[in-house]
Amino acid sequence: MERGGARIIDGKALAVDVMAGVADTVATLQTRGITPGLTVVLVGNDPASAVYVGAKERTCNELGMRGETIRLPSTTSQAELLDVVDRLNADEDVHGILVQMPLPKQIDADAVVDRIDPRKDVDGFHPTNVGKLWIGDPEGFAPCTPAGVLFMLKAHHVATRGAECVIVGRSNIVGKPMAALMVQPGIDATVMVCHSRTRHLGEHTRRADILIAAVGRAEMITADMVKPGAVVIDVGMNRVPDSTKKSGTRLTGDVHFPSVRDVASLITPVPGGVGKMTIAMLMLNTARAAAQFSP
Ligand code: NAP
Repeated sequence: MERGGARIIDGKALAVDVMAGVADTVATLQTRGITPGLTVVLVGNDPASAVYVGAKERTCNELGMRGETIRLPSTTSQAELLDVVDRLNADEDVHGILVQMPLPKQIDADAVVDRIDPRKDVDGFHPTNVGKLWIGDPEGFAPCTPAGVLFMLKAHHVATRGAECVIVGRSNIVGKPMAALMVQPGIDATVMVCHSRTRHLGEHTRRADILIAAVGRAEMITADMVKPGAVVIDVGMNRVPDSTKKSGTRLTGDVHFPSVRDVASLITPVPGGVGKMTIAMLMLNTARAAAQFSP
């Protein structure tokens, strides 16, 4: 492979394709009198959460869906938040419910996720959907980020059958559901999940035909940890200081892109990679929730 020879996966372009498909689905649903609706609940005033929530609402509206945000003060009690979730569960115009994380410390996030009607859990975090994901029930909702990664692999015709897939990170929102998707019959990868207690990480990552980094540590995956010709997917989104930027920071992934692109065959950039797909998959899940569960 030539230096810098990896092909770049353009998450932005793929997301545009997915959104176009969602817009078509929305138009079809509207002929049946259904407008898919996503309600995001934001508790408190975390600036990063506010940006994510704004993007979700805006994208819904651009696609002809109803995007709504309920903003609650940081002093909201668990009981008050559960009441809001109950109300949204009962509202026939709401097809998708997303409670933005992180939540203030007086609230038990698991209890809140448990309370969401699994048919409206477009984030795919409810235990019912987690179970459906593992048993391969297509009626469930897969979490958006891993679903977006799988979409990217399929779009680039990456050979997954029998491939060694190494995932670095075992969170419930990325690493574990990613493993569940990759191991399913039809995808057929051989999966290894690494984490902070993994010994000799590089020995594992160097075996990967498909390496997926979801760690939250800037540029920790370096070229020496990557098998030549591997497909490298970078889920990480880390803000690092950069005096050349007006903001004083820049966004970077978990993969050291400048060196790893010399070794990999296919790689996602940050930004412009996985992040773009995540919101597209949320829109897809919301449209599907409306199609599946509207009366
Ligand atoms: P998380 O909950 O903090 O999980 C990080 C995982 O990495 C944990 O399993 C942790 O192991 C593991 N880890 C930490 N240090 C390690 C090390 N030195 N070696 C090996 N494993 C290590 O993070 P997350 O929510 O999964 O997110 C991961 C990254 O993806 C973050 O940068 C986040 O911002 C980004 N993200 C991006 C999107 C997107 O749309 N692009 C969506 C979600 C997340 P332990 O379990 O042992 O602690």
